Amino acid sequence: MSETIFSKIIRREIPADIVYEDDAVLGFSDVNPQAPVHVLFIPKQAIPTLNEATPADAELLGKLLLAAAAYAKQLGLAERGYRVVVNCNEEAGQTVFHLHLHLLAGRRMHWPPG
Ligand code: 5GP
Repeated sequence: MSETIFSKIIRREIPADIVYEDDAVLGFSDVNPQAPVHVLFIPKQAIPTLNEATPADAELLGKLLLAAAAYAKQLGLAERGYRVVVNCNEEAGQTVFHLHLHLLAGRRMHWPPG
């Protein structure tokens, strides 16, 4: 059920531009970028959506956020600003059911996001 295209990226079965990795988290460029920087941060241990996350995943969820912030700082974009997005289920536009955090940066963002 949790097997998605992202599982194949974790196993290096399909190529991806991997920009961040630690024991629990992988970060790679989105194949269809919506900003000059568009990186997806995913847990190596798949969770389908945010709805399935439990208190046991609290540290892992924190690691995803911290990885995104560290990468934005590494790129020198932290002061300018960036956006972090998690889409949950159909109405929010989730298309890959392996929980992931979008880091979007490098251009002015708009609100409401649409
Ligand atoms: P969602 O809409 O589920 O929040 O985001 C899924 C994201 O995964 C989309 O932005 C989409 O462009 C990206 N994506 C889908 N398939 C692939 C892939 O095979 N490689 C990469 N790098 N990104 C993908």
